[in-house]
Amino acid sequence: MSATLERPTPLPGSRGPLFDDSLAPIRAKIEKGERLSLADGELLFTTPDIWTVCELADLVRRRLHGDTAFYNINRHLNYSNVCALSCKFCEFYRKKDEPGAYTRDMAYVKEQVREAVENGATEMHSVGGLHPYLPFSYYTDLVSTIRDTARELGSELHVKAFTAVEIVHLAKIAKVYKADDRTSGIRHVLEKLKEAGLGSLPGGGAEVFDDRVHDEAYKGKIRSDVWLDVHRVAHDLGLNTNATILYGHIEQRHDRLVHMDMLRRAQDRALAKMGYEGIGQQTTGISKDNAALRESGHLGYSGDEGSEVPIITLTRPGTPLPEHIAFSDTPSLPLSVSPSLPRGYFQTIIPLPFFPDGSELEHLPGPAGLENLRTLAIARLMLDNFPHVKAFWIMQTLPMAQLMLQSGADDIDGTVVWYDITKVGGSSTHQEVNVWTLQKAIREAGFKPVERDTLYRRVERDGKAWRSRLIS
Ligand code: SF4
Repeated sequence: MSATLERPTPLPGSRGPLFDDSLAPIRAKIEKGERLSLADGELLFTTPDIWTVCELADLVRRRLHGDTAFYNINRHLNYSNVCALSCKFCEFYRKKDEPGAYTRDMAYVKEQVREAVENGATEMHSVGGLHPYLPFSYYTDLVSTIRDTARELGSELHVKAFTAVEIVHLAKIAKVYKADDRTSGIRHVLEKLKEAGLGSLPGGGAEVFDDRVHDEAYKGKIRSDVWLDVHRVAHDLGLNTNATILYGHIEQRHDRLVHMDMLRRAQDRALAKMGYEGIGQQTTGISKDNAALRESGHLGYSGDEGSEVPIITLTRPGTPLPEHIAFSDTPSLPLSVSPSLPRGYFQTIIPLPFFPDGSELEHLPGPAGLENLRTLAIARLMLDNFPHVKAFWIMQTLPMAQLMLQSGADDIDGTVVWYDITKVGGSSTHQEVNVWTLQKAIREAGFKPVERDTLYRRVERDGKAWRSRLIS
């Protein structure tokens, strides 16, 4: 394809399509699978030509996934909404004796598992508040109860649980967290949870990687450096993880780009360990463009800062996806991968719009439709080494998720059932769609629906039984 845009003749009476010629160099980079700079990201955020932004994101998404769009059959289980913190943007947390506070016991968990298995779920997604009094054994019990109850019922449920901030909280509860050597405590907790049956980590709690925003809106939560450390240790242990970005509150658009840049640098490191070859060298952490941010105390250091890693993009034509390497026995992949290497990496970026209702930041307007669409499309373009982009229908709405499938997203999440964290437009905690509705939404958007498991393998069903197969 050419980097020069052909301008169609506008129809009489219309102003015609809005073309921004300054996007041409970005288009040329994307066509070659080159990494976009933060300056490119700024232009994508400010151009009035949002449709070209969406078109470019669609080009990348189709290169990676063709006309496939993923969904899964899952359940969310919020084990407790009791939290020691009081983040300003959060409407979920309760103090221990406040009305509406809850903590689920194992009988409740078993019942949820039974219902999940009966409904064909392949995944249990479990997160909660930072409960100040539950012992560490509660969390290992939670994970093993989900795994073992599903097995007793003749099925398997992948346990995706605990955001990075919860993992650090658990390390403190287990009394293994040391400020001067935080990764050993994080490793201890993740190893114990993995033994109990933890399959992967969700991507929550990242918010926006900027310490000024952090201190203003979610002080007390872990900062970017610790969040990245948790995910790095998880990857080293072979656990896949996701990442989120919560935008549209007190951050600036530039902060979103810095966040994306830090995530893709962390992913470079994970993919390098899997054997991917790079298109250049760089140092992990934040880009040179943002050294000033660090100087001014806006960003902290991750334990991984400063290592030399290659720049790795997955968006170059013909580059295999990491799931193809992690799960394939095929020796013909163009990478030298040792089977003994750890295989953890970021699977999915999930842009999450901020909802002001019920939070301490209720006076803010929150982002609206086009800003959500643009942010997701830019996430697809900037995060060139993330295999998947999710339009999380619970927070984006299903109609918006359809537009997002045409603008960079390849996944709309799953059937969910109960979701306490954010209630869009005053909706209840019971938020469920059936498989038929998800498939219809995907087909209507022009894609082929594929049921995936948590690790992005195709799910094949035979009655109530299911198994996973690599998607080629
Ligand atoms: S966002 Fe998480 S850590 Fe913050 S108050 Fe809500 S539940 Fe607690």
